[in-house]
Amino acid sequence: MQEISVDDAYQKLQIEISRERLIATTSNLVRISSENPFSSPAAPGCREQEIAHFYHKELTALGFDSELREVVPGRPNVWGTLFGKEEGFNIMLAGHLDTVGTKEYKKPFDPRIEEDRLYGRGSCDMKAALAAYLEVARVIAEANLTLNGNFTVAGVVDEEYQMIGSRDFGTYGPRADFCIIGEPNNLKVCPAHKGQFSLFFRTFGKAVHSSIPGAGINAIEKMSKVVQEFEDYNERLSNGKKHELCGHGTFSPGVIRGGSIVSTVPDFCEMEVDRRILPNETREQVIDEYRLRLEKIHNHDPEFRYEISEPSWDISPLDTPVDNLIVKTVTRGYYVVTGKTAAIEAFSGATDAPNFACPAVICGPGSLLQAHSLNEYVEIEQIVDAAKIYLYSVLALLLSSKTIRKR
Ligand SMILES: [Zn+2]
Repeated sequence: MQEISVDDAYQKLQIEISRERLIATTSNLVRISSENPFSSPAAPGCREQEIAHFYHKELTALGFDSELREVVPGRPNVWGTLFGKEEGFNIMLAGHLDTVGTKEYKKPFDPRIEEDRLYGRGSCDMKAALAAYLEVARVIAEANLTLNGNFTVAGVVDEEYQMIGSRDFGTYGPRADFCIIGEPNNLKVCPAHKGQFSLFFRTFGKAVHSSIPGAGINAIEKMSKVVQEFEDYNERLSNGKKHELCGHGTFSPGVIRGGSIVSTVPDFCEMEVDRRILPNETREQVIDEYRLRLEKIHNHDPEFRYEISEPSWDISPLDTPVDNLIVKTVTRGYYVVTGKTAAIEAFSGATDAPNFACPAVICGPGSLLQAHSLNEYVEIEQIVDAAKIYLYSVLALLLSSKTIRKR
């Protein structure tokens, strides 16, 4: 097999990708509840321990050198590597093990197949991709190829909340040169996405009895000035700088809280605002934009007192250049598998891809329209295609004799 071309190797191995196994593994993964506990303590059913152990067992059985690393109790990252020759790339298929909650979801862990779709919590976000990784791992391990580099498969915790898994992985996990992340995007090739940068604006007032409001300062009324001051902000952003894939930055006030009892003039109000930042925007620029507007209010109203909090969400943008080898490889893989040209665009949400600290591309089965819904499903055909695209990509990066280690 050593001298075989990538396309020949792919054609020979792609027939080994088994639709039945993909269905079985995705179903098995759906059956293992791995709900993110969010701000509650991790507990059976609401943690990644069980699914990480399942993944670890599968990777070990395939001959991968597999490790678990507990990020916080009950929440381990898992990865496994098939080592090849030293001189090649480290290529990684990575994804998150957790899912969103299942409140009001009927039979979330009962995978069911209907009209070539597999239903269940986590099916598309993103257990189908995790199953596809294992299938590619199996096919490559069983083929006994001489790989020029290392092939790693990884599952991380907590993508749906604070991304502690991928942050930890970036520091303690194996280093990768390229990464593919199978978040659901209908197998588009997404090398970029906006970052999420959220924080609180806080206004302060003076509490008095509500029957004498003139003697106090109403923090809610002060916040209403903030809301108005930011009314044209999205318009400004849409006329501002643009990223070729991500478009423009956006702003959205998301949560507001203030006051405690109606008979008191509130002395405190806070509003959490969500800002989607472009790869070429910095947090400092955003804070400066905020401060400029808030200072403007203060200049007109000396009683206006405010504070800008530390970030409540801070997820980096992803910006892998379109001409990067991983983008070209996955795009080519999509073409080889489907016969169609891949759509190259920005992923609409924020993901943990930037935390893996290497050029990364998002390409996975399923759609964000179904992710997080109460009727989550994934098209089985897409799981099969995903596995083939990943297989092609891993082979292309690890079999090519032209591979030059870039550090
Ligand atoms: Zn996801």
